[in-house]
Amino acid sequence: MIGKFFDIKPDMLKLDKEVMEICKPYFEKVDEVASYNQMKVLKAFIDNGISATHLVGTTGYGYDDRGRDGLDRLFADIMGAEDALCRYNFMSGTHTLTVALFGVLRSGDLMVCATGTPYDTLHGVIGIDGSHYGNLMDYGVKYDQVPLLANSEPDLEGIKAKCKDAKVCYIQRSRGYAKRKALSLETIKSISDAAKSVNPDIIVMVDNCYGEYTHTEEPLAYGADLIMGSLIKNPGGGIAPTGGYIAGRHDLVEMCGHRLTAPGTGREIGCSLDVMREMYLGVYFAPMITANALKTSIYASCLYEKMGFETEPRYFEDRNDIITSICAENAENVIAICRGIQAGSPIDSYAAPEPGDMPGYDSQIIMAAGAFTMGSSIELSCDAPLREPFIAYMQGGTTFDASRAAVLLSAQKVQDVRNK
Ligand SMILES: *Cc1c(COP(=O)(O)O)cnc(C)c1O
Repeated sequence: MIGKFFDIKPDMLKLDKEVMEICKPYFEKVDEVASYNQMKVLKAFIDNGISATHLVGTTGYGYDDRGRDGLDRLFADIMGAEDALCRYNFMSGTHTLTVALFGVLRSGDLMVCATGTPYDTLHGVIGIDGSHYGNLMDYGVKYDQVPLLANSEPDLEGIKAKCKDAKVCYIQRSRGYAKRKALSLETIKSISDAAKSVNPDIIVMVDNCYGEYTHTEEPLAYGADLIMGSLIKNPGGGIAPTGGYIAGRHDLVEMCGHRLTAPGTGREIGCSLDVMREMYLGVYFAPMITANALKTSIYASCLYEKMGFETEPRYFEDRNDIITSICAENAENVIAICRGIQAGSPIDSYAAPEPGDMPGYDSQIIMAAGAFTMGSSIELSCDAPLREPFIAYMQGGTTFDASRAAVLLSAQKVQDVRNK
C-alpha cells in the first residue's frame, strides 16, 4: 500500500512487511499503556470539572484566570503531583528547567547531577561551559556530577558520597545527545533512595523531557520531588503550541512560581491569551500521541536493525523515552536519514536539511523537522550532531501510519547511498 503513494523499492517494501509483523506484539503493549493513561487523563478532566469557560482566554495580568489555574490543577492530578505549573509562558524545555533550578537553588547550595554531564543546553544554565550570562554558578550555586557507569547504570555509591551535603540531586531521564540509555522508573527510584539514604532532605529533581506517558506512572511515584518537561514534546500532544511544566511537591512548585513571574507575585499572574483550548486539547490527546511516537520508535529500531545498523533501544526493549538512536556510522548516512524523514513530513517536505550551527550546542547539528509546530519533537523529527559516533536521534510521530512512511523513505535514502 505504501508503494502506491511513495517511491519505495520492492525489497524495501518487503522488509517493511516483515518488520510490521515482528513489531505487532510490542505495539500491543504500547496500546495497553496508552489506554491506561488515556483513562487517567479523562478522569482528571472530569474530577477537575473542566468546562467550556476554561477554554477561553484572558488578557492583561490574568488575575483569577480560570483556564490557567484549572490547567495547573488538572496537570498536577495527571502527573500524580501535589501541585503543578503547566503554562505556555515557558519558552522551551531549557527555560522550564532553568526556572525550576533557579526556583529551588540558592547561593551556597550544591547541585549534584547523578546522571553524568547533563543535556547540552543545560551547560550554560549551570555554568559548566565557562560562560557568565547569569547562570547558577554566577549566583554562587556549587555544582558536581556523578558519571553513569557502563551500560548506563547509576553509580549509587558515588551518588551517596556526593549527595551528603547537596540541596538538589538532579536526574536526566532521557538520553539527550549522549550514547546512553533512558532511565527506567525503577532506576530513578534507586537513585532517589541512594541520595535520600544519606540526606533525607535532599530534593530530587528529574528532567522528564520525552519520558511522559511511556509508562503508566511518572517519576513522582518513584522518589522524585519535582519533574519538569516541555509541552512541544510528549505532554503537549502535538497540539500545545509552546510551553512547559513543573510538577511535584507543593512548596517547591510555589517557589518556582515566584521565579517564573516575579518574586512576591508568584503564580497568580499571567494571562492565557488565546491558547487555552490548544493547551487543554493537547494535554487530552497526549497519551495517544505518545503511543504513536513509541510505535514509530519500535518500527524504526526494527527496520534499521534489519538493515544492519545498531539501534538503541532495540525494538523489543522497554522504552523510557520516545527517542531511537541509530548508529549511522558516517556523516553521509546521517544526512540521508534526515533528508528521508524531511521528505516524508507533512510540512516542508521539499526541503533538504543541511548541517549548521545552533545556539547552545558545540558541534554542527542537522535537523529534519517538517512539523506543524516549529521545533516540535513529538512530531516526527530527526537530528544529529555531526560528530563521532554519528548517531542520528529520531523521535516523535503523532500519527503512526504517516511516520512509518517517513521512516521507510529515510531507509530507502540510506539504501540508495549504499548502492551508489
Ligand atoms: C529537549 C530536552 C531538553 C531541552 O528542551 P528544549 O526545549 O530543547 O530547550 C532538556 N533535556 C532533555 C533530556 C531534552 O530531551
